[in-house]
Amino acid sequence: MMETFQYRKDREEYNLARVKALEALLIKKGIITSETVDTVLDYFETKMGPFNGAKIVARAWVDPTFKERLLADTPKAIAELNLPEGMAGAEGEHMRAVANSPEVHNLIICSLCSCYPWPVLGLPPYWYKDPTFRSRAAREPRAVISEFGLPIPENIEIKVWDSSAQIRWFVIPERPEGTEDFSETDLEALVTPEAMMGVAVATVA
Ligand code: FE
Repeated sequence: MMETFQYRKDREEYNLARVKALEALLIKKGIITSETVDTVLDYFETKMGPFNGAKIVARAWVDPTFKERLLADTPKAIAELNLPEGMAGAEGEHMRAVANSPEVHNLIICSLCSCYPWPVLGLPPYWYKDPTFRSRAAREPRAVISEFGLPIPENIEIKVWDSSAQIRWFVIPERPEGTEDFSETDLEALVTPEAMMGVAVATVA
């Protein structure tokens, strides 16, 4: 996947070492405490992440009227669900959902930087912030999506949604066939962050 992009092979180790050094320095200078770091990490592990997006999408799949409300006013519809505190903050107030259909496939990007709907998807993957991905996805989305292993037939329109400080997009993928008997919890397990970004679809494993 994404052979055309250039990354340091040791980027994980490299970034980990930088983060550790930065954290140690900030604690040493008394700017933060280690509890601050734990609190932020806990937030992204338990309160903001793709598990929220999966719940929202599964509800939209089982309840068409919720889906309508979600598309009409995303933050208001999300507020109906019993999701963790903070869903409205941290850029959540600017979220908008778009739905895939048999005619349209949606892709979300941030051509300027890395704007992303944190409350529903967590933090973006490294390639989302890559300048090559950002520019190519805007210019030739069909080619880029196909490099993720998802060839989109020519008769399906691709819409690219550019996130910004004003609007952060996420995709409601189509409900996979053969899931008529699935419970809402079963359905949640089929919804990946990649499907909510538009570089994958939801499938039955
Ligand atoms: Fe951005």
